[in-house]
Amino acid sequence: MSLHPTDLSPQNMADGQRAVEPLEHSSTPPALELDGISLAFREKRSSLPVLQDVSLSVRPGEFVSLIGPSGSGKSTLFHIIGGLLKPQLGHIRMNGQDVTGERGHISYMPQQPALFPWRTTLDNVLLGQENAPRKDTAAQPRHTSERERREEALQWLEQVGLGPFAKAYPHTLSGGMQQRAAFLRALLSPQELMLLDEPFSALDALTRGDMQQWLLRMWEKNRRSVLFITHSIEEALLLSDRIYVLSARPASVIHVVDVPFPRPRREEITLDPRFIEWKRKMTGWMREEKHRLDGDTDITGSVREDTSGIGAKPL
Ligand code: ADP
Ligand code: MG
Repeated sequence: MSLHPTDLSPQNMADGQRAVEPLEHSSTPPALELDGISLAFREKRSSLPVLQDVSLSVRPGEFVSLIGPSGSGKSTLFHIIGGLLKPQLGHIRMNGQDVTGERGHISYMPQQPALFPWRTTLDNVLLGQENAPRKDTAAQPRHTSERERREEALQWLEQVGLGPFAKAYPHTLSGGMQQRAAFLRALLSPQELMLLDEPFSALDALTRGDMQQWLLRMWEKNRRSVLFITHSIEEALLLSDRIYVLSARPASVIHVVDVPFPRPRREEITLDPRFIEWKRKMTGWMREEKHRLDGDTDITGSVREDTSGIGAKPL
């Protein structure tokens, strides 16, 4: 691997980080702001701490990823953002409004596509709009009639290669096609913020790669505010503007990476030496965290250290 020392100098990376305007200087409030979220699941006599003082933000039109060990509390955090669970401590704000414990503010794409088998692809895609309170968004003005919404959904289905399957039922679609339909359902929901919980983890490697490229192009066209959970470091680096790395349970944010690669991004970026170096570095963090989880005391103390100087921000 040949690295250009200048590419990886702390100076260069610090410049990359400054390219994103700091929150406190931004005039518009974040699309999503989590402020000191803590939650423990309480059973009769015991308590399972799952989230520990988690703070993060997604600015309007930003693609932000959460990465962390399995069982660390990522899906629980989504349930809190979606208002299905209430945190014991902390607040959730969307566009500056406190929405802690409230439902209906986000669109959500789960790990499994969760399409209704008795509804056609088109009717599944339209479901997000039926279930949400109608309000104006850039994608969906309130006055849109049902016929117009169907027309629009059909055009989107064409765009993502599902046109011929609009009237087909989900069981006739491949895994990747079902995920595209589930993504469209979330995209066409009127809520501005999309939460995507490991949407590609059930797909085979080739389909997953295709879907990543597809999502990248779709997002670059639409620029919705996205919070994305993934296990894959490469996926996070390819797609995100910023990545929050979570510790093992109870999850807290141990690193924040402002991804320095310009957009539009394409698959070739994964061969860039800087990409490979970031991947290597983040893999090291994840491995340390896993060892800490497994009780390997030798490296416990090194989890929060950043000695490489390539400019990530340990917290
Ligand atoms: P991740 O999505 O990071 O894999 P989860 O958020 O699903 O992790 O789960 C975090 C931890 O919380 C796990 O140990 C899980 O067993 C536990 N957990 C999740 N939901 C509940 C619940 N409703 N009641 C009790 N424990 C739960
Ligand atoms: Mg999960």
